[in-house]
Amino acid sequence: MKFGTKALHAGIEPDPGTGAIMTPIFQTSTYVQNGIGNHKGFEYSRTGNPTRQALEKNIAALENGNYGACFGSGLAAIDCVMKMLNPGDEVISTNDLYGGSYRIFKTIFEKYGIKFHFVDMTKPTRVEAVINENTKLIWIETPTNPMMNIIDIRSVVSLAKNRGILVAVDNTFATPFLQQPLDLGADIVMHSATKYLGGHSDVVMGALVVKDDNLASEIYRIQNSSGAVTGPMDSFLVLRGIKTLHLRMQRHCENGEAIAYFLKGEEKVDKVYWPGFEEHPNHHVAREQMSGFGGMISFTLKGNKVEDAKQLVASTKVFSLAESLGGVESLIGHPATMTHASIPKEEREKAGVVDSLIRLSVGVEDVEDLKLDLEQALNAF
Ligand SMILES: *Cc1c(COP(=O)(O)O)cnc(C)c1O
Repeated sequence: MKFGTKALHAGIEPDPGTGAIMTPIFQTSTYVQNGIGNHKGFEYSRTGNPTRQALEKNIAALENGNYGACFGSGLAAIDCVMKMLNPGDEVISTNDLYGGSYRIFKTIFEKYGIKFHFVDMTKPTRVEAVINENTKLIWIETPTNPMMNIIDIRSVVSLAKNRGILVAVDNTFATPFLQQPLDLGADIVMHSATKYLGGHSDVVMGALVVKDDNLASEIYRIQNSSGAVTGPMDSFLVLRGIKTLHLRMQRHCENGEAIAYFLKGEEKVDKVYWPGFEEHPNHHVAREQMSGFGGMISFTLKGNKVEDAKQLVASTKVFSLAESLGGVESLIGHPATMTHASIPKEEREKAGVVDSLIRLSVGVEDVEDLKLDLEQALNAF
């Protein structure tokens, strides 16, 4: 089955009791048993819920995996992966990482004896340099937030494979429509379904997908034991969101490209970060491992003044000033004072998050309105 067909149909059966074509919201905690142990596959909704299960199967199919598991947030999904590790284990991750991932690694799991190395993963030799016999997991995020760096998944996988190291990819920005990490050799795919999978800024949810039976049983054991599951209503909303994932992503890509080129031509704009540009340092990798470049763009202003950036983000009318991304509506953000405010100035500037950096999540509106909106906002200072 091709992607668009899977998005609508994978894992989804008409309800056998009523024929309802849409997966019902099974708002129930428990399930009646005919006799002890004699049930219909569900005993308790932390362990399994039919609405959640339909979504888990659907997301697994989109990622070309065999098993999916959904959690109460993207971070709860990351928490599950980290709980597969033991004290003394080491993890390698990128130095340009989603802030919440960095926070859970450093402030939660480090204290349980897990060691983290943050390296510039756009250069796989940097990864190789910190691998040792304790390395158990490599955590990739690509494209990265907010600098839109691209990491070569296949190269990192090739370093990990013969050493028994697991590779996990945070596929939130690309979505399975643009990038399928399991097909590139990764072991685990993680999503903040809050973003493009849900797609309508109305749910917080996370997901994991794997191919391997043993990894899956470990994930389900932790999902059930730690209990950070998502609810049936939210599962329904994300199932509904995914039905248009392929349509939305096409439009996000088209609009993203148009806005990236528009910004490049604007006088007050300095650098534009978007992996679709040929001069992007890993454009060739993006071309190889992604089927499109998505709707996320960052840019800086000439003069690099924080006041100009603040004026700009306060002046847009179609782009809303907000955290998060991946919804149908366009959002604008200022990483230095919003998503990356907790990182010391010196460190964030090293990563490129300078005072005038602005991040766009380009939505699916009519692109002419988006351009006009940015144009008037660029004229506001
Ligand atoms: C939002 C996000 C997360 C965290 O997901 P939540 O659903 O907010 O917990 C992780 N990784 C990336 C890339 C994200 O954008």
